[in-house]
Amino acid sequence: MSTITLKAGREKSVRNRHPWLFSGAIQQIDAAARDGDTVDAYSNTGQWLARGYLNRRSQIQVRLLSWQESETIDEAFWRRRLQRAIAGRAALAADPSTNAFRLVHAESDGLPGLVVDRYGDWLVMQCLTLGIERVKPLLARLLVELCQPAGIVERSDVDVRGKEGLRPVVGMAHGAAPAGPVEIMEHGQRFLVDLLGGQKTGFYLDQRQNRQRVASYCQGARVLNAFSYSGGFAVHALAAGAQRVTNLDSSLEALELGERNLALNGFDPDAQAEGVVGDVFQVLRGWRAAEERFDVIILDPPKFAHSQQQVDRAARAYKDINLLAMQLLPPGGLLATFSCSGLVSADLFQKIVFGASVDAGREVQVIERLSQGTDHPVLLSFPEGEYLKGLICRVTG
Ligand code: SAH
Repeated sequence: MSTITLKAGREKSVRNRHPWLFSGAIQQIDAAARDGDTVDAYSNTGQWLARGYLNRRSQIQVRLLSWQESETIDEAFWRRRLQRAIAGRAALAADPSTNAFRLVHAESDGLPGLVVDRYGDWLVMQCLTLGIERVKPLLARLLVELCQPAGIVERSDVDVRGKEGLRPVVGMAHGAAPAGPVEIMEHGQRFLVDLLGGQKTGFYLDQRQNRQRVASYCQGARVLNAFSYSGGFAVHALAAGAQRVTNLDSSLEALELGERNLALNGFDPDAQAEGVVGDVFQVLRGWRAAEERFDVIILDPPKFAHSQQQVDRAARAYKDINLLAMQLLPPGGLLATFSCSGLVSADLFQKIVFGASVDAGREVQVIERLSQGTDHPVLLSFPEGEYLKGLICRVTG
């Protein structure tokens, strides 16, 4: 086995089971080790610390897999880790009202670089690193063995692969492609998901519980679902008795799928809903000028901060949309506002929303604090895995 040696005094995070080893902490890498290989990490004093896979091209040069010296990284290892992740979702799998959820949440499930989502009988896998790319056929085979899916779609079309020297891959990792969008069920509502062409792996599974939480405030309400994608929040809002929903998104394709999702659940896409294609920043400004009002506004924007340098600009963008949304709410209106930027902490996000409330001259009560679903766990040794936060607020004054 090839080895890497850490710089003196850099073993603390490894001992604390943080799964990442950055280039700056590494003193030496065996010349014989090939990128993608499994390596043993040693302290500067020669103590064995952990085992993981290597990629010199990445800032994160090693992703750690095991802290047990006797544990080899073989087929049985990957099977055990997958089984553990799947077992962690047993309660979700047993719920007949939901059949789409995340099975493997990468680092947080002890499987750095691997995401697996379940959509009914189908699986979607995403391989984010070279170390996972190397064992992809094995992982696909194990997933077939453990889950017997109708097929496994690979959606490794994510920018982070570039940092690993990998190109995007979209296709079938097992079986034939689904004939069209796949129908899933979430809390008893039906949705069409385009596994091969949709955003992310097809659906924003991390918002599942939040869609239900937000819906519980929507009875009789005029709801604006901003950054709607395929209308997940809208369908749940109507199911909970909303008077009317407006889906607003820059993607026409997403809105069209949103209309089909409304019809699929027995709602009238014309009488009970409206789809608006446009840029949320601009459209909300126009509606403010026109004194448009909604009782409930959902803001679920894409990730605004991709790096530390972007945090300030992201904060301004979050403040901007939250301020606009508050101005479109009557006294007592409800704002459900989210951020999926991991670099914007829950604390900072609350401060941003507070800043918006000051500028809007409105008093805002936090009613609920939300985060990513239970199938997107956060490992205490890897706080970076926590990224989604949301506030349900009552906007008075
Ligand atoms: N709430 C959705 C997920 C939203 S993902 C759900 O529950 O499924 C973010 C969405 O914002 C994407 O659909 C993307 O097309 C859209 N989007 C990104 N930037 C936008 C902008 N400036 N204006 C409008 N929509 C935007």
